[in-house]
Amino acid sequence: MYLSELRIPASRLTGVGLKAVRDFASLGVLTVADLLMHLPRDYEDRSRKTPFAAVRGGGAVNTTALITGHDYFGFGAKRTLKILLRDETGEAELVCFGRNFLAENFPQGMRVDIAGNFTLRGGRLQSTSFEMESAGARPELFTSVLSIYPLAGKLSQKLLRKTLRQACEKFAFHLEDEIPPELLAAGGNLSLPQALKAVHFPQNLEEAEKGRASLALREFFFLQMPVARRAIERKAAVRTARTYPRGLQEKLIKSLPFRLTPGQEAAIEEMRRDSEAAYPMARLLQGDVGCGKTLAAFLAAVLFTAGGRQTALMAPTELLARQHADNAARYLEPLGVRLAFFSGSLSAKERKPVLAALGAGEIDIIIGTHALFSDDVEFRDLGLVIIDEQHRFGVAQRARLFAKGLSPDLLVMSATPIPQTLALSAFGDLDVSTITTMPPGRKPVETHLAQEGKEKKVYDWVRRELEAGRQAYFVYPLIEESEALALKDAASMYTRLAEEIFPRFSVGLIHSKLAEDEKRSIMEKFSRGEIAVLAATSVVEVGVDVANATCMVIEHAERFGLAALHQLRGRVGRGAFQSYAFLVFSPELTDVGKKRLRVMKETTDGFRIAEEDLLLRGPGDLTGIRQAGLLDFRAARLPGDTALLLRARDEVRAILEKDPGLLLPQHAALRGNPGAGAGAAEAAPAPGTSAGRAGAGEAR
Ligand code: ADP
Ligand code: MG
Repeated sequence: MYLSELRIPASRLTGVGLKAVRDFASLGVLTVADLLMHLPRDYEDRSRKTPFAAVRGGGAVNTTALITGHDYFGFGAKRTLKILLRDETGEAELVCFGRNFLAENFPQGMRVDIAGNFTLRGGRLQSTSFEMESAGARPELFTSVLSIYPLAGKLSQKLLRKTLRQACEKFAFHLEDEIPPELLAAGGNLSLPQALKAVHFPQNLEEAEKGRASLALREFFFLQMPVARRAIERKAAVRTARTYPRGLQEKLIKSLPFRLTPGQEAAIEEMRRDSEAAYPMARLLQGDVGCGKTLAAFLAAVLFTAGGRQTALMAPTELLARQHADNAARYLEPLGVRLAFFSGSLSAKERKPVLAALGAGEIDIIIGTHALFSDDVEFRDLGLVIIDEQHRFGVAQRARLFAKGLSPDLLVMSATPIPQTLALSAFGDLDVSTITTMPPGRKPVETHLAQEGKEKKVYDWVRRELEAGRQAYFVYPLIEESEALALKDAASMYTRLAEEIFPRFSVGLIHSKLAEDEKRSIMEKFSRGEIAVLAATSVVEVGVDVANATCMVIEHAERFGLAALHQLRGRVGRGAFQSYAFLVFSPELTDVGKKRLRVMKETTDGFRIAEEDLLLRGPGDLTGIRQAGLLDFRAARLPGDTALLLRARDEVRAILEKDPGLLLPQHAALRGNPGAGAGAAEAAPAPGTSAGRAGAGEAR
């Protein structure tokens, strides 16, 4: 039997009454299978003895001792028992609040096994939280590693251990593995029953870790299976190989006032090969802000133009789409490429001719927002789709495109550096080009941290830059003043910046609530230099390109994710001038918060920042990735388990290539993310595994 088929309700286990059923349900534990995958959050190592003398200043004790007497303190209802103990190394006492009855169970002269946390009080070792049994009565409690579980309601560790022991003994031992044996045998992995036993009832911490890693490998396997399958299917979707004329691409390269970087050249070559391959291209083009991805994408697009095929470029916001359109006009119009812009803000009257021209093949490259993929948009021959900032769109949009019956080549650009581990999980079926070289002459942005209250220095610095003719961004976490949050907001700071701080300079305000044409007109003014200081929210985050802007001031910087800070900082340092980022932080910053900001100061390498963010906060905070549910594991931990993830990926690919018909696991109980990601449609989650877990996040 497979784990996911183990749908016996947890209430069948002895000790699980009505109340416990409810508490278990709130942890997402409905079935015995759920229970078996309710993994310990920690362990207490009682595999070794720790006598009293070993914890002179206090700590965890695990020893065998003699009860030397009883004592009481307090009066009346507050009268409290103290049990006095001695082991071979020293003495200690147990304070039994509300448990005076223990005097009867544990009389003077009895030998006991005792484990607990002791602190030093008035020169004596004392414990109020301990487990004690008559010596030798329950050896497993004092000689093994104890699992510590996430709890809810009135559940106790004791009940969890008891029910899990039953579940392991009665049900786990005959579970069959859903993983091909080839994958399992390598690397000393445990079988599923062994792994479950090791993780719940380990003999020592090494065994617990081995069990966890074994389960993690299974999670990665289920994660990678649909991804690998998509990659293989894509490469099997054979089409006629073709070659596009290269003249136009070469002409564009010659028309540039600069030389391509090695990274751009490599990426362009890879995309050219993709375009000629016998299966559709699906490539992720990643690289730090400003490394020249957009230009590389245009260079790929003109190949298709030369071959008489159409390209659609989709950006996440209207602002960015407009900017791409402006750049395209600059680079491509002189070469005779026919461009068009399309978004939801076009009137019906404006839409009509664009759609007609598109259908007639009179437009080569159309640039816009996701409106490009509404039902009434029809292409004559869509050859290439370029999506900017993939993770904002998510995997779903991609699927929708293909559902339209189109199978164009696909190029995804991401300026948000995605750590390798996440890229593998989320975009494992894409080929990847990474541009690591920056255009020459870029000076790294200098980053300064400033505590709130000392912003004046920052403002003075910015003023000097403005006087030298440069421009500045000021970014705030809120659009407008909020009653609930004592934070600076863009709207009120706009007034202050304009009236008090920089009265001699023109100040503008931009945020997501403004109408599209208003946003556009403000950005245009900023990019023409008519606005010197732009107060903004994170709408300026991605892609906005004004080379003369040299200062990026981010107030309440601790409110932003590292990825967002990195994106914001990438708005400056885009021209020849030295640029600066100022991160203004709250004095109440946590240690982790401080570490994060220090990372920002130390490096401008987006990939390192993303990895650090993952380490410091876990994957949950990376924009969009959490929503995609791609990293909601039980046993696996990233980035720690990266090597395991890579191994699972390689082995899954090898297995599927040998046997493409291999049954996809229908059994989702072991998957960390039953309903998640693009794989969801392919592997049906077992009942009770996904829905039941919704509320469990907090407690785990
Ligand atoms: P990305 O999309 O990666 O953020 P862009 O393609 O928008 O980067 O390029 C950023 C800026 O650098 C643009 O103004 C672009 O014209 C310029 N640029 C691109 N490639 C080069 C290059 N090889 N040398 C100099 N400047 C470049
Ligand atoms: Mg860009």
